Amino acid sequence: MDKQLLERLSNACGVTGYEDEVREIMKKELGRVCDEVEVDKFGNVVGKKGSGSPTIMLAAHMDEVGLLVKYIDENGFIRFIKMGGIDDRVLPSDQVRILSEKRQIPAMIGMKPPHLLKEEEEKKKIKYDEMFIDTGLPKEEVQKLVEVGDPAVFDVAFTDLGDGRFMGKAFDNRVGCAVLVEAMRQLESFQGTVYAVATTQEEVGLKGARTAAYKLDPDYALSLDTTIGGDTPDIGKHESTIELGKGPCITVVESSGRGMVPSPKVKRHMINVAKEAEIPYQLDAWKSGMTDAAIIYMTREGIPSGGICVPARYIHSPRGIVFGNDMDNAVKLTVEFVKRIGELEQA
Ligand code: ZN
Repeated sequence: MDKQLLERLSNACGVTGYEDEVREIMKKELGRVCDEVEVDKFGNVVGKKGSGSPTIMLAAHMDEVGLLVKYIDENGFIRFIKMGGIDDRVLPSDQVRILSEKRQIPAMIGMKPPHLLKEEEEKKKIKYDEMFIDTGLPKEEVQKLVEVGDPAVFDVAFTDLGDGRFMGKAFDNRVGCAVLVEAMRQLESFQGTVYAVATTQEEVGLKGARTAAYKLDPDYALSLDTTIGGDTPDIGKHESTIELGKGPCITVVESSGRGMVPSPKVKRHMINVAKEAEIPYQLDAWKSGMTDAAIIYMTREGIPSGGICVPARYIHSPRGIVFGNDMDNAVKLTVEFVKRIGELEQA
C-alpha cells in the first residue's frame, strides 16, 4: 500500500461539492498510471487505460461528509448545516477547519460545559442545529473572513498506528481512491478499456457517478468504496460480521435491495477470481447505505455491476481506522477481476 498517497488523500479537504484538493491529487496520480486523464464537466476525474471492448468503469468517490456555513451571528459564532450523513453525537468539541476563500481557518464546535447543564439538558441529545462553530476570533475578523456557503472539514491528521494500520479522516472514501490508483498502476495486460473514475458528490446522492456512467456507457462497473467494520464491542455478529484484516468485502446487496443489487454474473466472477487467486474476502449484505454502483447499475439499459469495499471502523465520523492489508487485497481483487474480464463475456 502506498502509505504516503493514503496520507495525502486523507488529509486533503473534499467536502461534497468542494473536492478540489482531492481532485488535484487524483488527476496527477491517475495521470501517471493511465494512458490519458481528463476532468469532466461535473468535476469527475476520468482516467482511461487500454482500448476496445469490453469496457469497465471503476468508480471511487472523492467527497467526504462535512459541514457548510449557514449563518454567522452578530458575535461571530457560526451556525452550520451537514453535508452528508453525520451522526450529531460525534460533533460536539470536534476540531474543524473552515475553507474560506481567503484562508483556512482552524476552529471547533462549541458546547456548554457540564457545569452549566440543567438536569434535563444532560439527558437530551443535542442536535447539530443547536451547535455552533467557534473560531475564537473577533467578530469583525470572522465577518471579514467567512462567508455563508464556506465548507468546513474535520481537522484530523493522518496517523500511522503501526502494524500496517492507519487512523485518519475521510477514509470513506479516500481509501477507495488509493485502491483505484494502485489498481491502475498494477494493471498491465488486460483485454479492453478500463475507465478509472474518481467521482464527485457521492455522499449526497451518487451524483458524479450518474453523469460519468451515462457518458462512458461501460459494459461493466465496480464501485471501490469502504464498508462498516463491525468488529467493535458495540456491534453484534447479527448486525455485522465484517472484520478488519479479513479481506475486502464483496457486496451481495446494498441498502436491503434499495441500493445496488449486484449482477449475479459479476458477483460470481468476483468470488471465483478471489478463490482462485487466494485473495481473502468477506461477503457483505448491507442493511442500509449504498455506493456509486447503486446509480451506475441503473444507467441507460442497465450496467452489470458489483462492489469491492474495504472495511473501515467509524465511517462518517471525524476519524476512522483501516488495515493496509485489506487495501492491498482490494487492489489485488480489482486487478484480477479486470484481467479476467474476458471470461465474463463468454459466460
Ligand atoms: Zn463511501
